[in-house]
Amino acid sequence: SPPLAPTPRPRSIFALTARFKADSYDKKVNLGVGAYRDNAGKPWVLPSVKKAQAALIADESVDHEYLSITGLSEFTSSSAKLILGRDSPAIAEKRVASVQTISGTGANHLGAVFLSKFYDYSKLAGGKRQIYISNPTWANHKAIFNSVGITPVDYPYYDAKTVGLDYSGLTQALQSAPNGSVFLLHACAHNPTGVDPTREQWHQLADIFESKGHLAFFDCAYQGFASGDLDGDAYSVRHFVSRKTIPVVICQSFAKNAGLYGERVGALHVVSATQEQNDAVLSQLSVIQRSEISNPPAFGARVVSMILNDASLWSQWQSDVKEMAGRIISMRTALHDLLTNRLKTPPPGQSGSWDHIVKQIGMFSYLGLKPEQVKRIVDEGHIYMTGNSRISMAGLTTGNVEYVAGWIDRVSRE
Ligand code: PMP
Repeated sequence: SPPLAPTPRPRSIFALTARFKADSYDKKVNLGVGAYRDNAGKPWVLPSVKKAQAALIADESVDHEYLSITGLSEFTSSSAKLILGRDSPAIAEKRVASVQTISGTGANHLGAVFLSKFYDYSKLAGGKRQIYISNPTWANHKAIFNSVGITPVDYPYYDAKTVGLDYSGLTQALQSAPNGSVFLLHACAHNPTGVDPTREQWHQLADIFESKGHLAFFDCAYQGFASGDLDGDAYSVRHFVSRKTIPVVICQSFAKNAGLYGERVGALHVVSATQEQNDAVLSQLSVIQRSEISNPPAFGARVVSMILNDASLWSQWQSDVKEMAGRIISMRTALHDLLTNRLKTPPPGQSGSWDHIVKQIGMFSYLGLKPEQVKRIVDEGHIYMTGNSRISMAGLTTGNVEYVAGWIDRVSRE
């Protein structure tokens, strides 16, 4: 009988992890992981999460009934304040529709379905159902938008020559897109490049969004994780929302900043111009959510909600987030220092230095190496990274950073 489905193409990142696991070399290093690891290379349960979890389990009044369709209201309202700010005028004016989602992926998906059903693409010159995404971006963005019939179109973002932002390419793309286009932006800690616009550049980008009537679809998977400062990492989103004239959609994930990868805690926030429009948006999001998942999962949302609403857990969480971001930043400094000062390793391409390692933000870094150099590091050095030389800084520790720097040095001299 014919197969029900053809075999899909294998994903390289999963193949990489499988190779790492099968490798018996004692100095092997996995720089492909998309999750935080402590300095011993182990997953880390945040102390704030441990405390909240214990309190929840001990609480006899917590039951296992369904949450409402839009999720735990204490969670959605406090997560909106986390991203938009406690004193956000948009929240006070009841212009933010917040729905609990299956982590950041679910938020992207719900947002994509919402746009596919309701965004008025007919007002765009050409009327194409498109979303502009950065080149490169998190691989799932393409799949998520394709699956709802919205075509992802690349906009220039990363400049391989400078190992930095292609700011003029980005602004030209914004200017030349039809008025009213939808652009996906990474709120902070761009995945996979670690390259973010500066605050000044965000202001200028917001000017273009305003004049072109574009919609900003923010994906925010790393708030607090990028710099250790939860407010600072929300700067881009808050700035766009403060303009009032830019339609803004925000996908929020607590996978990274609360280390709740497997609990699937996230939210979608849609900011409207008026309360009336907001009420319609929230009702439509509920209708979509009903047929997608009916009710979001409770446990992780309760954990996050407790952390956001209890003064002592909140301050513990802030220090947990600082600890993760701090360790990552210290690994950037260590790697940069080894390459620049100790080994005097020739920098990649025309970048002129290894400074991009310390300038890049968040969990990931693009080293700027060529695919054949990466291949040697993987095959001979047993250091696993994707072919584009993206490394997860969380995979570096004080115990392996010299070994990794040594291999980067070796392949950079040939
Ligand atoms: N967006 C970006 C840019 C990401 O890097 C990730 C995590 N890799 C996500 C969304 C979604 O992650 P999750 O569904 O685990 O929250």
